[in-house]
Amino acid sequence: MSFNERVINFSAGPSILPVEVMEQAARDMLNCNGSGMSVMEMSHRSKDYQNIIDTAEQDLRDLMNIPDNYKVLFLQGGESMQFAQIPLNLFRNSKKADFIVTGTWAKKAASEAKKFGTVNILASSEADIFTYIPKPDPATYSKDADYFYITLNNTIYGTHYNWLPETGDVPLVTDMSSCILSEEVDVTKFGLITAGAQKNIGPAGVTLAIIREDLIGHAGPNCPTMLDYKTQADNGSMYNTPPTFGIYIAGLTFKWLKNLGGLKAMEEINKRKAAKLYDAIDESKMFRCPVVKEDRSLMNVVFVTGDETLDKKFVADAKAEGLVNLGGHRSVGGMRASIYNAMPESGVDKLIDFMHRFEKENA
Ligand SMILES: *Cc1c(COP(=O)(O)O)cnc(C)c1O
Repeated sequence: MSFNERVINFSAGPSILPVEVMEQAARDMLNCNGSGMSVMEMSHRSKDYQNIIDTAEQDLRDLMNIPDNYKVLFLQGGESMQFAQIPLNLFRNSKKADFIVTGTWAKKAASEAKKFGTVNILASSEADIFTYIPKPDPATYSKDADYFYITLNNTIYGTHYNWLPETGDVPLVTDMSSCILSEEVDVTKFGLITAGAQKNIGPAGVTLAIIREDLIGHAGPNCPTMLDYKTQADNGSMYNTPPTFGIYIAGLTFKWLKNLGGLKAMEEINKRKAAKLYDAIDESKMFRCPVVKEDRSLMNVVFVTGDETLDKKFVADAKAEGLVNLGGHRSVGGMRASIYNAMPESGVDKLIDFMHRFEKENA
């Protein structure tokens, strides 16, 4: 199969990757950087591999403007492992954490943290099917919490914070799995940022953690060695064998983003793509976006017709035209177009064009 036979893939994750990244990986497959071997066959202790991981880290630091007092860790276990790793490491004094619950992932993170300490849910939008980001009164924030947790972009419900809680000395922790590198962020606002790679970075199997140094080294004596951030921080993410291929692809994606002009340029493109699609939904008589306007995600665009049978027909008819994976999450139904960094604007244009035709033919 050649690249021009590819479908337009709106999958929420694992998801579309830049064609240029995969073409480079294909060229490197049997002989990476003149080493005479595939990156998969390289010792992680070799000079060739050290260069790959060091370059990936530096490019990520450049892209996100990560200060020197933050460590960049390449971990495994997926974002779901972070739901446990975060409390294991950050419950260090009061063993209390504040949470805002904006969807399935925040709920899972909260219930995992509860195994290790006290979880205080400041606000939840669950009663309204997570169609907005709730804003708790800052007076209710716990002054003595060990951390404050939010899911910056809610992949399933298509919401995103357009503000950040002012938590003072309490470290703000966020799951950025589905929006990392899609927009400029001020890393210094956070104590810890984590992200599974399979949405906007590379293949499943790598999980990024960007952690302020003072938050490292507080895990209790019962914390497994592999789950102590200090272990990987002290060993350059190489206490054991890291997910070498995934880190290599992540590195290629970081280069791709740099060549594109960095996160400011990427954010502009993402805003343009999302605005077009939301406008098409809002202007249509058939489709509707359940998310309040001010909290809409740039990455995951959720919409419905209001008729489940028609939703299913839309997803099936779109697939027949090469517009695939437009079904909503199995827990919510409807439609979801994930338009991550690698989704070209022409892919969004084709979806909008298809929506217009579908509306005409099924009115
Ligand atoms: C996909 C996703 C997860 C789960 O990631 P895994 O790597 O499969 O554990 C968690 N949080 C968010 C926001 C996600 O989008």
